[in-house]
Amino acid sequence: AKSSEDGIFSKGEMQYFGPIQLSPSAGVLNYGQGIFEGLKAYRKADGSILLFRPEENAMRMRSGAERMCMPSPTVEHFVDAVKQTVLANKRWVPPPGKGALYIRPLLMGSGSVLGLAPAPEYTFLIFVSPVGNYFKEGLAPINLLVDDKVHRATPGGTGCVKTIVNYAPVLQAQSRAKAKGYSDVLYLDAVHNKYLEEVSSCNVFAVKDKVISTPAMNGTILPGITRKSIIEVSRSLGFQVEERLVPIEELLDADEVFCTGTAVVVSPVGSITYHGRRVEYGNNGVGIVSQQLYSALTTLQMGLADDNLGWTITVN
Ligand code: PMP
Repeated sequence: AKSSEDGIFSKGEMQYFGPIQLSPSAGVLNYGQGIFEGLKAYRKADGSILLFRPEENAMRMRSGAERMCMPSPTVEHFVDAVKQTVLANKRWVPPPGKGALYIRPLLMGSGSVLGLAPAPEYTFLIFVSPVGNYFKEGLAPINLLVDDKVHRATPGGTGCVKTIVNYAPVLQAQSRAKAKGYSDVLYLDAVHNKYLEEVSSCNVFAVKDKVISTPAMNGTILPGITRKSIIEVSRSLGFQVEERLVPIEELLDADEVFCTGTAVVVSPVGSITYHGRRVEYGNNGVGIVSQQLYSALTTLQMGLADDNLGWTITVN
């Protein structure tokens, strides 16, 4: 779908996956006006296909678009477009237990600009791809490296927006960590270099004496939909959850640590390395709370129990 000059998006149409045409002077290519979302569709045993809180993705795209000086589709338009795209690609939704259809909505400045300014026209598109389960055989812990030389976001920047411009700056730190055998990088805040922010594409939680802590939303962290859902699920299971500044020392002293995100769902952290010191977490890194939250969340997302929270939408 394309926006007109007044920022209203047309209805859009289905196209086969393939290259798209963009002007070399498109706003997205020159000034980074691009935002994306990520969500998954799961197939239930009865064949129906479920989406998990897609209106949350729509709202996050809308608030991010404002920061990036872009118009955005309405929540209704966004959710309807996601549904139509999944329906048109029904056969690519894996069978129950075999993964999900990953859905990638993209919003970009497709109009031409030469001097620095917002693009005059925008394109909203959605592509999909089947993905396997993140964990092939049960939960497997990930190993994180704290990199205090690289920051993914600074106060006043765009850290809380799911914009394409936040991802290029972490590629170097991430590939350096992977080359050393780590799963990913954990970033600290850019001002004090001491408080947890997040991992390259997921949020982070610490568990100590049954209390769950996670960095508060301060403008530099992406407001993960899995994060928000896990906070709600944890509270409903009787856990105390604190959203606040979490110093790195506290993480190193935690009983267990886990990450949340659409791709990783709930990923237990097996070890964290900070300034050359490696801390390993108990139960081979797969903590009891992480396990409990993983199954509570996936039960909902995969439609394995009644959805009393109204978090899922049936597409077909
Ligand atoms: N932080 C970052 C930087 C991310 O890219 C993602 C993935 N969208 C997340 C956190 C987790 O967000 P969500 O739970 O909405 O997938």
